[in-house]
Amino acid sequence: MIEKPKGTNDYIYPESQIRKQVINQILSFLEKFGYEPIETPIFENVELFKRSAGISSDIVAKEMYEFLDKKGRQLALRPEITAPVVRAIIQNNLINQPIIKLYYFGNIFRYEKPQKDRYRQATQFGIEFFGIDKPIADFETILIAYNIYKTIFNLEIEIHINSIGCKDCRPKYKNKIYGYFINFKDKLCSDCQRRLEENPLRILDCKNTTCKEISQDSPKSSEHLCLNCKEHFSKLSEILNSQNIPIIQNSLLVRGLDYYNRTVFEVKHNNIDLAGGGRYDYLVNHISQGKYDIPAVGFAGGLERLTNLLKEKKYINKLLEEKFKINIVSLSEKADKIISNIYSKIIDKIIKKNQNIEIHLTKFDNLSKALKTANKLKINYFIFIGEEELKNDEITIKNMETGKQEKIKIENTISKILQIIQNN
Ligand SMILES: [Zn+2]
Ligand SMILES: [Zn+2]
Repeated sequence: MIEKPKGTNDYIYPESQIRKQVINQILSFLEKFGYEPIETPIFENVELFKRSAGISSDIVAKEMYEFLDKKGRQLALRPEITAPVVRAIIQNNLINQPIIKLYYFGNIFRYEKPQKDRYRQATQFGIEFFGIDKPIADFETILIAYNIYKTIFNLEIEIHINSIGCKDCRPKYKNKIYGYFINFKDKLCSDCQRRLEENPLRILDCKNTTCKEISQDSPKSSEHLCLNCKEHFSKLSEILNSQNIPIIQNSLLVRGLDYYNRTVFEVKHNNIDLAGGGRYDYLVNHISQGKYDIPAVGFAGGLERLTNLLKEKKYINKLLEEKFKINIVSLSEKADKIISNIYSKIIDKIIKKNQNIEIHLTKFDNLSKALKTANKLKINYFIFIGEEELKNDEITIKNMETGKQEKIKIENTISKILQIIQNN
């Protein structure tokens, strides 16, 4: 028996249905804000992620699936989707538009230790908003993230936010951080000892208990912002407060990727990270090697964490609302043609009406087998033509709930079925 690779999942009903409905709700919500879908390849040149996320980031250094293709090109399965989106807008010349608003959803791949809610193939959705460097764009992004969890899925959430500064003030802050952590060098975990030299800000992101404790008293980024960054952050906080969006200023929040500047934020429920994002004003410049310079802000959320949480909250019962099901059954070769005709006519009608209905076309040699299957499928109305019906140009319609059945003339079938659908 060949089994699925470690850290991956098969999604089968009902989970597959829940995932589909959750993602549909999110994506149609994003379109209300004027975002358009974008799709990019699941593999890219390795260089894209090295240049964007940073060579020393965990994502690139430890977790990326890298491979050579048959021509020896160095490729990687995408560990995140922001850099590919930026690559795509540059390559497709969208870059000259004043504003670009895009959303995506798709798989990402990270070679991590599999645990609850963390898979090697995961699904992310997110938005990227290019063109505006003012706090109002950060606000819109946070508002959208907030409403996805709060309004659509009714979850109690907290928004943690911080500002990590810009290229003027961040280097000075980095030095402060380095000066602080160097005193604790021997106590830091081995990863953080490496981070101390490569990018000491990442120590603030470490999950190790000792590193976390040491981080508590480290210099706060909010106290080392330049005037412009300070103003940006206080304006954003002001707008968020005025709209009653519950924010928590978390000075230890830095996010794991190199490309963020100024605003970073995370959406949390009971300390579970549901989504994260921020501003990345230098990424377009970075990926286009200085050719373009466009501010941007965005966020990404994980589908698996959200659906796992919704399962615990019993929210999914609402998503799995039963459809109205009709089963049309042929019990003989002679009935096939009539049954097929009824089936295609009904399908035609319900496609036009867009009703929440499921129609099953089946064929069995005897009635009891057909009924057994119908019960399994939880059919509401069971419609069949047997030998007797065929002789009289009739069909039988059975209400599976009440057990009542009636015979009607074949020519009246369509209107009768439509009437039944209408009444349910
Ligand atoms: Zn600054
Ligand atoms: Zn550490």
